[in-house]
Amino acid sequence: MKDKKYVYLFNEGNASMRDLLGGKGANLAEMINIGIPVPEGFTITTEACIKYYGENKTISEDIIEEIYSALGKIEKKTGREFGNKENPLLVSVRSGAKISMPGMMDTILNLGLNDETVKGLGRLAGNERFAYDSYGRFIQMFSTVVMGIEKKKFEDVLDNAENAELTVSDLKEIIVKFKKIYNDETGSNFPQNPERQLLQAIAAVFMSWYNPRAVIYRKSNGISDKWGTAVNVQSMVFGNMGETSGTGVAFTRNPATGEKSVFGEYLINAQGEDVVAGIGIPQPIINLKEDLPECYSQFMNIAHKLENHYRDMQDVEFTIERGKLYFLQTRSGRRTAQAALRIAVDMVEENLIGKEEAVLKVEPRQLDTLLHLNFDRDELKRADAIAKGLPASQGAACGRIYFTSEDAKKHHDHGEKVILVKTETLPEDIEGISASEGILTTKGGMTSRAAVTARAMGICCVTSCNNLIIDEKAGNFKVKDRLYRKGDYISLDGSTGNVYGKFMQTVLPEVSGYFSIFMGWTDDIKKMAVRANADTPGDVKKAVEFGAEGIGLCRTERMFFNEDRISYIREMIVFSTEEQKRRALYKLLPKQKEDFIKIYEAAGERSVTIRLLDSSLYEFLPADESSIKNLSDKMGVNFQKLKNTVRSFHEFNPMMGQRGCRLAISYPEIAEIQTKAIMEAAIDVKREKGYNIVPEIMVPLVGGVRELKYVKNIVVKTADEVIKASGIELGYKVGTMIEVPRAALTADKIAAEAEFFSFGTDDLTQMTFGFSRDDLSKSLSSYCDKKIYEFDPFQKIDRAGVGKLIDMAVKLGRETKADIGLGICGEQGRDPSSIEFFHDIGFDYISCLPVKIPVARLAAAQAQIKDPR
Ligand code: PEP
Ligand code: MG
Repeated sequence: MKDKKYVYLFNEGNASMRDLLGGKGANLAEMINIGIPVPEGFTITTEACIKYYGENKTISEDIIEEIYSALGKIEKKTGREFGNKENPLLVSVRSGAKISMPGMMDTILNLGLNDETVKGLGRLAGNERFAYDSYGRFIQMFSTVVMGIEKKKFEDVLDNAENAELTVSDLKEIIVKFKKIYNDETGSNFPQNPERQLLQAIAAVFMSWYNPRAVIYRKSNGISDKWGTAVNVQSMVFGNMGETSGTGVAFTRNPATGEKSVFGEYLINAQGEDVVAGIGIPQPIINLKEDLPECYSQFMNIAHKLENHYRDMQDVEFTIERGKLYFLQTRSGRRTAQAALRIAVDMVEENLIGKEEAVLKVEPRQLDTLLHLNFDRDELKRADAIAKGLPASQGAACGRIYFTSEDAKKHHDHGEKVILVKTETLPEDIEGISASEGILTTKGGMTSRAAVTARAMGICCVTSCNNLIIDEKAGNFKVKDRLYRKGDYISLDGSTGNVYGKFMQTVLPEVSGYFSIFMGWTDDIKKMAVRANADTPGDVKKAVEFGAEGIGLCRTERMFFNEDRISYIREMIVFSTEEQKRRALYKLLPKQKEDFIKIYEAAGERSVTIRLLDSSLYEFLPADESSIKNLSDKMGVNFQKLKNTVRSFHEFNPMMGQRGCRLAISYPEIAEIQTKAIMEAAIDVKREKGYNIVPEIMVPLVGGVRELKYVKNIVVKTADEVIKASGIELGYKVGTMIEVPRAALTADKIAAEAEFFSFGTDDLTQMTFGFSRDDLSKSLSSYCDKKIYEFDPFQKIDRAGVGKLIDMAVKLGRETKADIGLGICGEQGRDPSSIEFFHDIGFDYISCLPVKIPVARLAAAQAQIKDPR
């Protein structure tokens, strides 16, 4: 008795068997189960793929036996026989991993054809031309995919053939030439035995799991190499059997806008890859209503049935063979962020899904694409398009044009913004596409490979821009008699398909409509608050617009750098007596206060956490001799003395130097003046606007409770004096950042003096790893390449190390003060998986850049749904 089954007929599987049957196999099985017309077939499991690699790249005898047995059953079901001269069964062989990797791996169609079965197929179809056309395609596909023969060799034969309408004898001649190429390249004849063809094709699909484009795709999408691919063997149906046959791809809703109408394209008398490869001019699906009305209405019914069944927008492939409709594939359709939001909202309104399900449907990072790209509206109004194509993937892009993926990548790596311009993109262009701001092609429809890949990556794309004449070799394109050369700027509008022949500024779009409905749901669901890191009134305003519930980190360093202030802080540094220092700082007081007033006004009654100064004093001092001279003249101090003073502030490692609370300990008057400004501003705004403000004053870079206690005493003393003098009641809080490992380790002690902890995960990561946050990039790429680090710990929280410290600090802090406020304000606060971690350990809030707030709100809601608290 065999312990494992490696081959499943479609009707033996179901949707839950993704890991084993791959996404495509599981879906085909599910489709059969719900009564969709799907050509018969079977799936060879992902475990068989793993076994194949484990057994020195051979398909074991027991698996071959299972394959033949399944094939026998398909023969029975279809009434056709593999290799039969009169009634041949032909199959397609396709890859299908657990997660769809569109266009990344290989497909072989028409397998089973040989010099004899081709005649049988011709008789069966009553169309000899069709049979030889299919045979030619098969030889070409088998040779390139299975044997790795260069595609161009076959294309050259086709290019030399009289192109108009190839006759049967033309096709026969082409086949002879194709077989010769095969023979020249492999040293053997084209295989005539269908079983051998099949096993070779299956092995080739297993092998394609490790082809370079699949490996790159997996790397950029975080898909594990270990999963392997399943192989689907399916009886062929033919879209190229004449005018009542065709093939197409469709989305059950518009994947670019989300609009609720079936969106697709088809080609009459064409096969398989023709539509996605951008060959021929596809017709919009609505035209099918006239071409083949019965198929159209059946198609629409099934499209709706599939969408209702899967409760999501579907991306389907279909073929019509002599008026009979078959579905070859269905999967959740990739979509732009705009479409994702609209579909989620519409589906809730249609009662198809609930709000939580809708919230889980949108990938948080996708919202990023919504918040970054658009052209400046005025500039757009003034601009004249040089060409127009199909708006295949939304967004705006501006960059220099390059005509090959290698060039695009090279110039991107040198820091240029690039746009890849091609007749059509090939699967191997993936690196060039991902290096580009935008893609422009002259061929291909909305479902062409370029369009699908760009949408998946959130890259702007315009396809079918056929009034452009590209000369890829010379590196230019011509449009309306104007030549655009390699390196010239163009701009693409992925929402209209317009192409502009110049540099155009891109700006953040306004948010409204579906976006606000959807974001409203995330706010209803999530328990963790989302605040912003914002230092200026403008940033605070933006943060509030994006839905920030407060300001988690207002850094005050920038406020000192303004032209009209830096001289006072320099005076403070240079003067030697405390009295002089205080006097200099008092000149800053009204300016700081004005800043805080504006920040409080912009924040309304939302919490605002203001952090005391956290930068090395050396940063405020002039560096070169002439600036030092200017300063000495201005302040009336001796040049040499000033130069010596400046030098005395130099630090070899400023990140570990005189910054954070260490400043306030050396210069208590800085903490005093800042507290005064913070409190007076709050009182003024409370008095003027009636806002109930509770300032949160945060002490940075604390490593132990004594540091905090010292600075807190200054803060409390100053704050209480200000409150008393104002005659107005005002609460306030004093808390600390936890960003030094020692602070995390002694958090129980620190909690006695702090009302809140805000984890500074940038410094905490820097100090825990001992890696400089500013100089890491060079080492990090080799660390990631060599898998020493799986990811950049400054972008995504390192749960095993830094996360452990945070978890420990949270527990220790709560032991001392059960209701201590908990937040995070480092860079990782924008990363969805880190947000899930912060949710899980019970943070009250996360704080991130204003533009990342929607991503964080969605990630926090998803974390709540997955692990309710
Ligand atoms: C941090 O260290 O995580 C932090 C937010 O502070 P800064 O980036 O200002 O050092
Ligand atoms: Mg810090």
